[in-house]
Amino acid sequence: MTVHVPDRFSEEAVVGWRVWRVPLTFDGPLRLQSPVYSLAWETRYQTEASCIKHVFHRGMMPHSAPDPACTCGLWVAKFVRTLSMQAGSSPTVLSVVGKCSLWGRVVEYTGGYRGQYAYPYELVVIPPKHITNDRDALREIRDDLALDYGVDVAVLGDPGAGTIPAWTTEIPQSIL
Ligand SMILES: [Zn+2]
Repeated sequence: MTVHVPDRFSEEAVVGWRVWRVPLTFDGPLRLQSPVYSLAWETRYQTEASCIKHVFHRGMMPHSAPDPACTCGLWVAKFVRTLSMQAGSSPTVLSVVGKCSLWGRVVEYTGGYRGQYAYPYELVVIPPKHITNDRDALREIRDDLALDYGVDVAVLGDPGAGTIPAWTTEIPQSIL
């Protein structure tokens, strides 16, 4: 039986939604990054949360992440429609929205979960305004991410580039 308590160790993955940024590099592989801390997400290996807040907050002890009393951990939202984090799409940064699995120590908050370990479950590339019409470039990005991370990746608005998940209709306009 799964019991939802604020702080628990989860053997089974909890799934939610989140946003990543992908810096577009001319050399080197494309990597998902957390928008806030620019933490690069591992390919084919779990990303593990850590917390350095004690360095900046006097009186806070070093702790493992996520901690119920802190804001650390890898964040997902329970509903795609409540995503608000802008990944900062620009000519050099792409925005990706996706389902993400969390496991290990998982702390529930009102809108979602903070987890110890995470891995993307399925990804959707949000076409940035400057390359909306360049399907080939977007499909190449899609293929690279799908191959490296080993998960389904689609390009929003391009049915020829992967199966677009139904939940994408609930992506808030503010992050498109
Ligand atoms: Zn912390």
